[in-house]
Amino acid sequence: MNPNVVAEEYLILQRAIMDAQKELTEAYVNEIDLDIKKQDLKRELPVLPQLTQSPVPGVLYHQAVEKIADVIEEHQPDLADELNKIKATLTEEEVMTWIKEAVMFDEFYFKQQAKDRGVSEWLPHFLAEQGLRPFMQLMAREVADIIQEFDVMGTCPCCGEPHRVAKLIKGEKHLNCPRCETLWKQKRLACVHCGNDKHEKLFYINVKDDESSKIEVCESCKNYLKVVDTEKLFANKPAALLDLETIHLDFVAQEEGYDGQ
Ligand SMILES: [Zn+2]
Ligand SMILES: [Zn+2]
Repeated sequence: MNPNVVAEEYLILQRAIMDAQKELTEAYVNEIDLDIKKQDLKRELPVLPQLTQSPVPGVLYHQAVEKIADVIEEHQPDLADELNKIKATLTEEEVMTWIKEAVMFDEFYFKQQAKDRGVSEWLPHFLAEQGLRPFMQLMAREVADIIQEFDVMGTCPCCGEPHRVAKLIKGEKHLNCPRCETLWKQKRLACVHCGNDKHEKLFYINVKDDESSKIEVCESCKNYLKVVDTEKLFANKPAALLDLETIHLDFVAQEEGYDGQ
């Protein structure tokens, strides 16, 4: 098993995108007034679908998408024409639809966007999603002090993303969302997807030559979770990066028949 199944070139691009997202997050932190009424939020639903006002301002999102496009162009100059085509044709009105469809992870919409513009099928959705993450992360910061009170089954309590990555921190399991980077302690020894707490139906797969991570699998729902021991990594990496660096675990889990289907 080769742990480096994600091409180094792609990881370098992703790290550059994450740096840009961090810059955007810091630049926007004082520009966005989320005004979330925390006391009104239900604790059994993710925060994002409960907000009455979009946490993503159109103008700033448009800037974020353009910045991510520039980072991609810097690393992949062969995509310059396609990126410029998107930048030149993306209207303010369309930006609002992009936000909505990116939040809903509507792949069909973005495939149509690619077709309409004559660009690579993956590119509009990738741009739309990466442009969204700084805002998801700002929203997560805003509710960080109450997120531990939430009890949402199967998804991130902040943005609603399905669970993929957990971190072992001092032996305790914390779920960490690769989309909004929310980190929250898991209360129970139970499957994070379906709540199954029968120990004989929950077990781990260890992967050869990988000391720092393992796969938690559930026989009840056939889903899995990648668990990374951060103390063995000697680095506190964002969940988005860990998710990519552990893509070999996804292959193993899926080969073994665990993918929630
Ligand atoms: Zn999230
Ligand atoms: Zn389960």
